[in-house]
Amino acid sequence: MTVVPLPSRRDPESGGQAGAADLPAQAVSIRGLSKTYKGAGEMPPKTALKGVDLDIPRGSMFGLLGPNGAGKSTIINIMAGLVTKTAGSVKIWDFDIDTDRRRAKLAIGVVPQELNIDPHFTPKELLDLQSSLYGLKPGEYRTWEALEVVGLTAEAHAYSRWLSGGMKRRLLIAKAILHAPPVVVLDEPTAGVDVELRQHLWTYVRELNAQGTTILLTTHYLEEAEKLCDTIAIIDRGEVIAREATGDLLRRVDSKEMTVTLTDDIAEMPYALGKYDVELLPPRRLCFRFRRSQTQIGEIIAAIQSAGLTIADLTTAEGRLEDVFLEMTGKRAGARHDDDAP
Ligand code: ADP
Ligand code: MG
Repeated sequence: MTVVPLPSRRDPESGGQAGAADLPAQAVSIRGLSKTYKGAGEMPPKTALKGVDLDIPRGSMFGLLGPNGAGKSTIINIMAGLVTKTAGSVKIWDFDIDTDRRRAKLAIGVVPQELNIDPHFTPKELLDLQSSLYGLKPGEYRTWEALEVVGLTAEAHAYSRWLSGGMKRRLLIAKAILHAPPVVVLDEPTAGVDVELRQHLWTYVRELNAQGTTILLTTHYLEEAEKLCDTIAIIDRGEVIAREATGDLLRRVDSKEMTVTLTDDIAEMPYALGKYDVELLPPRRLCFRFRRSQTQIGEIIAAIQSAGLTIADLTTAEGRLEDVFLEMTGKRAGARHDDDAP
């Protein structure tokens, strides 16, 4: 895939570059957003969102994470106008999706989780049609530019039903960026995508972000979110339970690991250290796992020294997003029992 981001228009209405002072501080602003899906037949109604408040700062690379069924796609589909909300408000680029629908739509490009492409269209036809839906005149279409960006020029006239999953994903990306929106949303963009395409995709998304486009993405790959996103929100059962700079979130992890290298080899674990969760890595390293809230590093060091050992070196491992995620969503799972009630 050629990495040539389409320049993002800052003002979706005029197409002009607005001055920074005119730009909204929040690319997306969500207040009290609730959604209850109506039941059908045997299916009871399902409350997917319970009063979500969320601000996505302009220019950020924002990760929305949460277990399956947490409500991520529901939020994104409401933003895209694919799902009607039950209550609350959503502003995109300061345009309310209820009262300023047209401009809100022009400000956002959404790559949905589902590969919902009409099989009867070719990529070229699909993108031309989408351009007209965005209100562009034929002379203003950027179909070829968008196809080039996602590396689908050769497939321009192929029927979409013949495209591979990865190609369909790329076509949906092209569709989302046709109108160069200032906000691009990707819902699980790397699900079922091979490693190579995933790398290309992230390179592209990073460049888009570097040029000023605000990116909102959901992903199951926590490691990717940890590397890519500057801010992360965690949603669980329809509620936002954390929203912080990625670094701050990682510092909140309670589980910690410390590896101590001793000056001399030891044959077995000293008795005095038996009260810790510690592993002997022969010949002279000890790996401690502990909860920061319960155990001080200094206390462990003192215990090592009073066991008659001398420390040559010491490293601590920072928390991983995976740990934060499990700690936060796990705690809630243990604390509540009525979650599956609508
Ligand atoms: P996520 O994207 O975080 O996995 P979703 O937003 O897709 O979560 O789903 C949130 C909840 O809403 C889930 O319990 C899901 O089963 C339910 N849900 C999603 N779409 C529908 C629908 N069209 N009708 C009924 N329930 C739905
Ligand atoms: Mg989803």
